[in-house]
Amino acid sequence: MNRDVLSGESDTPLAEVVALMNARVQSCFIVCENGAPVGVITERDAVAVLDRALAGEGYEGVRAGDVMTTPAHTLPENATMGEVVRVMNERRFRRVPITDDKDELSGIVNLMELQSAMNAALERRGRDLEVAVMARTAELQAANAKLEELSIRDGLTGLLNRRAMTEKLDELHALSRRYGNPYSVILLDIDHFKNYNDTLGHVQGDEALREIAKVLGESVRTLDWVYRYGGEEFLIVMPETDHAAVLPAANRVRECIEARALPHPDSSTGPYLTISVGHTSVTRHNIERFPRWADVVEHADEALYRAKQNGRNRVEGPLEEV
Ligand code: GH3
Ligand code: MG
Ligand code: MG
Repeated sequence: MNRDVLSGESDTPLAEVVALMNARVQSCFIVCENGAPVGVITERDAVAVLDRALAGEGYEGVRAGDVMTTPAHTLPENATMGEVVRVMNERRFRRVPITDDKDELSGIVNLMELQSAMNAALERRGRDLEVAVMARTAELQAANAKLEELSIRDGLTGLLNRRAMTEKLDELHALSRRYGNPYSVILLDIDHFKNYNDTLGHVQGDEALREIAKVLGESVRTLDWVYRYGGEEFLIVMPETDHAAVLPAANRVRECIEARALPHPDSSTGPYLTISVGHTSVTRHNIERFPRWADVVEHADEALYRAKQNGRNRVEGPLEEV
């Protein structure tokens, strides 16, 4: 609302009204009776007076109340912007006088002010919406990242799960078949773990699985990937690693687990938890023997089987070296 509004009682001489509108560069004059708006004199009324003056009719005796447009449609100070818009729209007003609680003129709202108030409100709303959308998007992204992370992790050990393993092996095997890049897999299985559970209980068994997962993570290079293959079996994927390089790595993994010295009270292999390890490697020379990565894992599983057969707590590789 604009408080800088021209107004006066209805007996104000018209000449005074026109002079005021001219001097104050105002497009309207609110005519009041005892302070309450009763009519409006706009530029249009002023032009009509000018027309009469040009036609030779004097307007010396004319008062504001004689030429005003009536009645003055007013709105209270607490009217909403929506009400102002509705009244101006329905009645094709370019301005609406505002009255206070004593019905006296307190200001005016004209089209220009209304437009800038609406623009400001729209901008505010736009900004609020933008902030809300950005906050919501960040929340969703964080939730998605968490879900994505959960979907590739094993709940018990925190290691990557089979789903993640499948993705990695798909990628490495494709690279190997296409460009001959070598890679190796190590499959390992805890020795006599059923007995471990049977003597110490499943809770202790779970704790041992977590501990073994931790040691495995620490015993490989940062470029290698450790997965929980299932139950008490784990699979390690080593990119860019051939037969010569996987052998010491597989031995190191076995030694690290044994060195952790987790007591196993009912193992015929020794006093501590041990693992049996099978490994196999893919190179440009033998890739044709492995149409799918599952064939590579199966090959490592056969080596693991031999490690069990040959006494456990040991490492076995392919029968013929390549
Ligand atoms: P081997 O040396 O031949 O591998 O003997 P093993 O007893 O380890 O082999 P077996 O396959 O007979 O037993 C595997 C055991 O691993 C049985 C199963 O209860 C246990 N196991 C598998 N997953 C879990 C698990 O998430 N938590 C616990 N506590 N035990 C598990
Ligand atoms: Mg097993
Ligand atoms: Mg086992």
